[in-house]
Amino acid sequence: MTREPYLATRLQGFGTTVFAEMSALAVATGSINLGQGFPDTPGPAEVLDVARAAIGTAADQYPPGPGTPELRAAVAAHVERFRGLTYDPDTEVLVTAGATEALTAALLALVEPGDEVVLLEPMYDSYAAAIAMAGGVVRPVPLTPPPADADGGVWTFDSADLRAAVTPRARLLLLNTPHNPTGKVLDRAELALVAEVALEAGLLVLTDEVYEHLVFSGAEHVSLATLPGMRERTLVVGSGGKTFNTTGWKVGWICGPAPLVAAVRTAKQFLTYVNAGPFQPAIAAGLGLPDAYFTGIAADLERRRDVLVAGLREAGLPTVSPQATYFATVDVRGVQPDGDGLAFCRELPARAGVVAVPSVVFYTRGHADLGRPLVRFAFCKRDEVLDEAVARLGRMSA
Ligand SMILES: *Cc1c(COP(=O)(O)O)cnc(C)c1O
Repeated sequence: MTREPYLATRLQGFGTTVFAEMSALAVATGSINLGQGFPDTPGPAEVLDVARAAIGTAADQYPPGPGTPELRAAVAAHVERFRGLTYDPDTEVLVTAGATEALTAALLALVEPGDEVVLLEPMYDSYAAAIAMAGGVVRPVPLTPPPADADGGVWTFDSADLRAAVTPRARLLLLNTPHNPTGKVLDRAELALVAEVALEAGLLVLTDEVYEHLVFSGAEHVSLATLPGMRERTLVVGSGGKTFNTTGWKVGWICGPAPLVAAVRTAKQFLTYVNAGPFQPAIAAGLGLPDAYFTGIAADLERRRDVLVAGLREAGLPTVSPQATYFATVDVRGVQPDGDGLAFCRELPARAGVVAVPSVVFYTRGHADLGRPLVRFAFCKRDEVLDEAVARLGRMSA
């Protein structure tokens, strides 16, 4: 790892992300970009129209620090509708610049230097960086993939590994379900175990649920906050980006008991203070859409998952079919003799005209060997784009 000359010690190793490298490679080679997870179709008109109408009005100016009252009310109503949890929109809901800011603000607010944060690995790439900014220490619990291609197999973690990761320095448990990059949805038994460990050790819990509505047949999303004893120690993070195809709007939120939300608000107000004025009423409208919208987006994405998973397997890449999210993970060892997913991703544009991301970037350095043979492909793309990607992968050169 080369040292970056001006970068503070706590951020060494978090240099340019591989997403930037792979996206640049996609542009330079005219490849289909299944690397970064963003949709290539617009969100629902009911949402977009509200944003268009709001631009040029008072909504262009700073919204209230905690978010507009209508968006906070819409978040509370949405959480109550889908999770059965009640939050006070004035004291228990905070609007943030995407889920990313909610997570970072929560970690900055709650973690003391040297405190440990327990999480499942692989992990979403902002977690380790945000924990480092807070001066915290990552304690990863490895997820193990099922035999690829065995349909119905899911990633699992070992309860002994979870318990071993919780030391006396542990302060917070950061959970992500549905999980990026694996597509795993924690089931009730796994959540009960996580809750038991958090209660025993007196941990705060931060749960990232941005894929709550992108769950496929056979799986069910349950928020950890709904388990007995958990609401009072848990902060739940959501976002409009993945649900309404508006990842560039960066409208997110965090819900939890008032004292925890107040702590997060203190950090958040000096990060961005506020953001996305005209988009806040639009996301509020989206959160109020009928149930059919939310079940519809999951069914539509499930169909696209099936297209990509079949195509990847056809191309000789053993693939774990995900239970949720935008992403499928493959093992490249059959088509990449050195078994190096990063090398595979760098060569894939030339071999097939497709771009993916090496899953090793979702692992801590000490566990890089676990992620080395794995590569993540996104399927949140139009049918014709996925069909073309699958056709190209089918002709992949050696
Ligand atoms: C996309 C994503 C985020 C970021 O959400 P924003 O609202 O765009 O900040 C957070 N967590 C996970 C797991 C994600 O995949």
